[in-house]
Amino acid sequence: MGKLHIDYLDSGQLYVCGICKAHLTDHKELISKDFWAGTGKAYLYNKVINVYSGILEERMLRTGLHSCCDIFCKSCENKLGWKYVWALEPEQKYKEGKFILEKNLIEKAEWDL
Ligand SMILES: [Zn+2]
Repeated sequence: MGKLHIDYLDSGQLYVCGICKAHLTDHKELISKDFWAGTGKAYLYNKVINVYSGILEERMLRTGLHSCCDIFCKSCENKLGWKYVWALEPEQKYKEGKFILEKNLIEKAEWDL
């Protein structure tokens, strides 16, 4: 492992790691709140920072075959959700390269800059 480098977002509406509060993504990157994970509700985002990916796995989901990898906080190594790498069904292709964060594992942080 190299030197741990945590990035910061310059935004008034952030989602952060529920454990260590590392910045993860901006409210502007939110695509959908209509997802579910093992821990409850989950959100789909365009871009997430300060995470690393686990092993690529094929998963048969309600919406067909996908390949996904779990994502973990780069700072505290807590699992935060997963990344869609590939989707079989054409109508699910929009999820490729996008990130799921589980609502119960993250926090919303808002402040005035
Ligand atoms: Zn963390």
